[in-house]
Amino acid sequence: MTSSADILNARILVVDDRKGNVELLHGMLSSAGYTSITNTMNPWEVCDLHRTNRYDLILLDLMMPGMDGFQVMECLREIEAQIELEAGYESGLQVESQGERSALPVLVITAQPQHKERALQAGAKGFITKPFDRLQMLTHIHDVLEIRQLQKKLQKFAMRSEILPGEKIFPRETGDLFDQLAGNLPQVFWIWDVHDKTFRYINPEWEKMTGQQVGQGDKLETIFEPVHPEDMERVLREAANLPLGGVDHDYRLLLPDMSIRWVHSRTFPIKDSAGVHRIVGVMDDITQRKEADQQLLQVSHYDALTHLPNRVLFYESLRKVIKQSEMNHRIVSVLFLDIDNFKNINDTLGFALGDELLCEFSLRLLECLRVTDIIARIGGDEFGCILVSADGLGNAGVVASKIREALRQPFDLRGHQVTVTASIGISVYPIDSIDADTLVKNGDTAMYRSKTAGRDTYRFFTPEMNARAIEKLDQENALRKALDRDEFVLHYQPKVDLSSGWVTGMEALLRWKRPEHGVVGPLEFIPVLEQTGLITQVGAWVIESVCRQIAAWRHAGVGEIPVSVNVSGRQFSRSTLNQDVIRATQANGIQPTLLEFELQTERALRENSIDSDLLELELTESSLMMHAKKTVSILQRLKVLGIQISIDDFGTGYSSLSYVKRFPIDVLKIDRSFIQEITTNSADAAITTAIIDMAHSIHVRVVAEGVETAEQFDFLKGRGCDEVQGFYFSPPLPANEISQLLLSGSRRLKPAPCRPNAGESACNP
Ligand code: C2E
Ligand code: MG
Ligand code: MG
Repeated sequence: MTSSADILNARILVVDDRKGNVELLHGMLSSAGYTSITNTMNPWEVCDLHRTNRYDLILLDLMMPGMDGFQVMECLREIEAQIELEAGYESGLQVESQGERSALPVLVITAQPQHKERALQAGAKGFITKPFDRLQMLTHIHDVLEIRQLQKKLQKFAMRSEILPGEKIFPRETGDLFDQLAGNLPQVFWIWDVHDKTFRYINPEWEKMTGQQVGQGDKLETIFEPVHPEDMERVLREAANLPLGGVDHDYRLLLPDMSIRWVHSRTFPIKDSAGVHRIVGVMDDITQRKEADQQLLQVSHYDALTHLPNRVLFYESLRKVIKQSEMNHRIVSVLFLDIDNFKNINDTLGFALGDELLCEFSLRLLECLRVTDIIARIGGDEFGCILVSADGLGNAGVVASKIREALRQPFDLRGHQVTVTASIGISVYPIDSIDADTLVKNGDTAMYRSKTAGRDTYRFFTPEMNARAIEKLDQENALRKALDRDEFVLHYQPKVDLSSGWVTGMEALLRWKRPEHGVVGPLEFIPVLEQTGLITQVGAWVIESVCRQIAAWRHAGVGEIPVSVNVSGRQFSRSTLNQDVIRATQANGIQPTLLEFELQTERALRENSIDSDLLELELTESSLMMHAKKTVSILQRLKVLGIQISIDDFGTGYSSLSYVKRFPIDVLKIDRSFIQEITTNSADAAITTAIIDMAHSIHVRVVAEGVETAEQFDFLKGRGCDEVQGFYFSPPLPANEISQLLLSGSRRLKPAPCRPNAGESACNP
């Protein structure tokens, strides 16, 4: 048999154009005890090297510039044929070159399943699949080398021994009946004699299946000749340890035409009083079943588009890698990647080019990773990588930067030059979690953090992110119930006419009385309402409540109070056509135009008998711009109803008055950030003055937000600003307190003795 020293001293050549891969493979082999390893990054020198050194194994990268792995194998095949002929010549025997089926000692390194068949045809003995695990690779190399050594020994033996001419026709073991039965079996059937160690019988199915003639007197080894090199070691081992009950095994045969057949073989001993005297074998061709299994495996484990492992295999691999790392104390980093704005590419270039981009993108990723790294397409435009290393943290950051760098080069998609960026999140085993699901979840959370940090970047997961993610989820769930549970309230903040001191109206500001959290301000939850789409229902509730409040103040004798309501851009952009209106108008052949939002607003005004000019809608500059076309038409129709429109937070966005002119605006509210330092910062003072002047020139009223001091008030008064709103007069207050305020002091407000941080209700005059 082959000793392990023979195997470890085997001559190995590593061929890869990438230095990192060569070094990595070399390192893995030498750490496993291999002593004779040569490296080259130059495919052109492989054949010369092999001619001189006659390697026992060549690890060959397929994708190399100049000369690819297939070309290298072609040249190696010629050399192997020469070597065989020379060996035969030296021994004085007539040896026929095996040509295609030579014992070419090549294992191909590839990440592309579609290359495998071609590589086998080109003479490869097997594959090292990228991505792969270290243990699997070393086991595979060991097996191949063991077979290689066995083959060498057999070859030497064959050269020395006399070859007997085989007989095709076998003598009948038990007469005609047996011959008829065994000869017509659809399976291969053979009988082997334990004493003279030769075949007694083998039916014609064997020759039909393999093309190989085996005759009586042939050694058992002949039937193992066509066994696929990758299965050889296992099959021999299983056959050598034949138990009395027999053995069942599946393996592959590699036939002279390079096709592969899967067989199921059952081998069992036959005993008589003297003990085992025959071994009998039955062999079925199960290729079709195996192919179906393989296909199923391929479909269930690989992504059809990029041929990368899919989500299922990604998780399986991650679990396996974690288990291994538990034992050898290694660090595993999970990188989660999402292509930024991929949807735009699909939308503008179409799905076909979008698919092409995904394929090209996955190849670039493969280029950035080492052979031991695992890369998978998790779904859509999301990819996952698993990196194993001794110093995972630093390494993951380096890989992430490398990926970002590799993406700087544009992709050429059938003439379209497209550049993309990716947002990357990283979580690390065992620091962030020790289980696969949580690692992936954390990687995902970190990836979203990269997105919110402006994309084209990477973030390591931190526990705070998790706390925030959980908190956000809780908040989202609580918000879904808040409306039904009556947890929203509106506070009202007066707006005051600068010259007369009269209250001109109120702004309704939303508050959430969240159980166990107290009163939550809108800045904390409006973005969540927008993301989840809940803003539509909550927004409708605000308008309805405001209309009811205006009616209630009128009934209570407070007077007709105009109220402005903040409207999120999403309320407009998400608003759809009302189904009843569509039905009614289409029946009359009219194109429906009114959206749900407009109908709700109109209904709220009507049901509370409110003049439409008592309601004002505040939209921020940015939300006006976001869906400008749709927004303009909605605003124009609302305007026709008589509703007032104002631009909120003016100065924080585009701040283009000429653009603003396109919208039917009544009021412009200068953002608080300008007012804050209006008396100390000359730029803010100048901008505010300019905004007031320009607004007046297009007949738009100006409200200054966040006025807190007498100095600010005086400044604004001097510049001709129309109204002010801010703590200087009153914080936002619950409706009943507003009623008291207005009923007690007519509608003229005196400055309120309160500070911004004192809490809203504490500022009551
Ligand atoms: P906004 O519309 O600009 O509202 C003015 C904000 O400034 C309010 O904050 C108000 O309490 C605060 N404020 C008023 N005077 C002063 C002052 O003198 N000093 C300081 N420091 N702050 C002052 P609030 O209530 O937290 O609302 C924040 C934002 O949330 C609002 O900004 C608005 O954009 C949004 N919002 C409020 N309610 C709603 C709503 O019902 N729907 C929508 N979509 N957004 C809302
Ligand atoms: Mg506002
Ligand atoms: Mg504002």
